[in-house]
Amino acid sequence: MIPYGKQCIDNDDIQSVIEVLQSDWLTTGPKIKEFEAAFARQVGARYAVAVSNGTAALHCAMFAMETGPGDEIIVPPMTFAATANCIAYQGGRPVFADVLPETLLLDPEKVEKKITPKTRAIIGVDYAGHPCDWDALQDIALRHDLFLVADSCHSLGAEYKGHKAGSLADLSAFSFHPVKQITTGEGGMITTDNEIFANKMRLFRNHGITTDHHHRKSNGSWVYEMVDLGFNYRITDFQCALGLSQLEKLSVWIEKRNKIAQKYDSAFRLLKGVSPLKKNKNITHAYHLYVLCLASEIIGKNRSEIFHELRSNDIGVNVHYIPVHLHPYYKKRWRTGPGDCPVAEAAYEQIISLPMYPAMTEDDVETVIERMYEIINP
Ligand SMILES: *Cc1c(COP(=O)(O)O)cnc(C)c1O
Repeated sequence: MIPYGKQCIDNDDIQSVIEVLQSDWLTTGPKIKEFEAAFARQVGARYAVAVSNGTAALHCAMFAMETGPGDEIIVPPMTFAATANCIAYQGGRPVFADVLPETLLLDPEKVEKKITPKTRAIIGVDYAGHPCDWDALQDIALRHDLFLVADSCHSLGAEYKGHKAGSLADLSAFSFHPVKQITTGEGGMITTDNEIFANKMRLFRNHGITTDHHHRKSNGSWVYEMVDLGFNYRITDFQCALGLSQLEKLSVWIEKRNKIAQKYDSAFRLLKGVSPLKKNKNITHAYHLYVLCLASEIIGKNRSEIFHELRSNDIGVNVHYIPVHLHPYYKKRWRTGPGDCPVAEAAYEQIISLPMYPAMTEDDVETVIERMYEIINP
């Protein structure tokens, strides 16, 4: 089976983890700060805060902005549930604004229509690795005095008008799950230029406790204070060692992802009934996903049939995503449902994610293309 996504681990990665396992620090040691500094430098942000996963990163971002009950936060439905869940964790209301049909990115016009006096923030999702229209979103945020958050879990390595994902919003959240651009097993990061936000998130990831053990040791004291209600969202030192080693390969891997996308693009240009998502000119795509839209009336088969035929031919296709507002929890708790976001709902019926990861060989890519031709145009 050629999976839709997969990690890439080499001997350097393994060696760097072993070194930490043999050291005195398994967690909250020197590798955390090193990884945070390297990551901040990489994306062009002033601060980076490492946490246990991407969902924790989004939760930290909500805490930093002090969102709570009564607050509305605008979010697109074409994303993983965690993007909206983090709003509810802090007691806020997720408000879904529809996406653009050609890119499935948050539609700034739809965002503007959802703004009320209760709106506090907008979360943009760089779906598939294509940055949102951050200028348009920033303009809305400024005019309405809102915070802007980037769910950059797909877009590490992407650029928008020459600026890197991680430097495009007030807070940007990343995930290091094995299918993402770099991995730490589980892991996450938030980047920001705001020192107050960074300090709050460092507190939040450690139970809301003000001093860490390094401070206590240097003060020669047992004293610590818990000043807010936080969580244990810490990441380990050996994970950060892996992250540091992975980060060095990011730019090569982004190039590989783009090469695979180019091969898919030129192969499927000639295949009737399939079309890739649009790629804007002013961006560098990070291709977390390669998404095709299937026109079942032209192909003569529906998405489900195509999906199962590909799966039974060892092509590990997937579907990203079931629109979040259609999940039972959201329907029940937030009274959402079909018709709320018609563009995302229609797109959901058509999309399929093809295998896309840097360790794919030319043969793998050819195999995917051949199987697609056999199944769609037999
Ligand atoms: C992966 C992902 C997350 C969550 O990251 P985890 O590390 O799995 O918690 C959140 N949002 C999006 C868009 C993602 O793809």
